[in-house]
Amino acid sequence: MLGFARIPLAASATRAILCRHDGEQAMSDTKTGKMLVISGPSGSGKTTICKKLREDPRVKFSVSATTRAPRTGEVDGRDYFFVSKERFRELASQGAFIEHAEVFGNMYGTLREPMEDALRRGEVYLLEIDVQGALQLKALGVAGVYVFIAPPDFEELRRRLVGRGTDAPEVVERRLKKAEDEYRERVKYDHVVVNADLERAVAEVRALVGLAAK
Ligand code: ADP
Ligand code: 5GP
Repeated sequence: MLGFARIPLAASATRAILCRHDGEQAMSDTKTGKMLVISGPSGSGKTTICKKLREDPRVKFSVSATTRAPRTGEVDGRDYFFVSKERFRELASQGAFIEHAEVFGNMYGTLREPMEDALRRGEVYLLEIDVQGALQLKALGVAGVYVFIAPPDFEELRRRLVGRGTDAPEVVERRLKKAEDEYRERVKYDHVVVNADLERAVAEVRALVGLAAK
């Protein structure tokens, strides 16, 4: 829980920055940054793609708060802010999250303040969030590039989830079931990128936010 103290408490709800009032106008009023939302079913390759995107110094990764326990190798404040359920609820009630959702029994939330700061600085602010969270942001009118990462097919998705080795067989089945529902939501996104060849998928995403030359 080292990141506990570093989570900004004040929720400066400068909605004008984050919400579209008239087309893309709000985006250009106060900042030049771009929000890139990477979302899609579990196992589609979001984390792998985001790891590559984060190699670019122009990209700032949104570190979410979560109530789930850290996995081996995960660093508090870099991968997530690992917090208790009580602390998460407190942050939510203070309006610290621009969106939050329960995913497979744990809570996850995107912190509002670092996002606003990054956009003001003109950075590409990268969010890796689940489908519910992405659609919440979109429904709020939060300006950004919304990308759905799709697996080539469901058999390959199963292979990847099994191959990742982080989930018990019944959890893999639960993730696959949910993936079918989530897949139907892809039409609500700005772009769908099929993650068959990893390098190609990463290049496609980079191009969508003008990072192609790097
Ligand atoms: P997510 O973050 O969407 O749950 P991961 O990034 O953890 O998915 O990827 C799931 C598994 O699939 C990992 O073991 C990862 O190494 C593998 N993987 C990701 N992209 C590809 C790809 N293009 N080809 C083959 N395996 C991939
Ligand atoms: P994991 O526990 O495997 O790191 O993440 C589980 C799921 O939660 C993934 O789909 C991931 O994208 C999503 N997630 C991570 N952070 C957030 C967040 O802040 N908000 C939402 N809605 N989902 C998140």
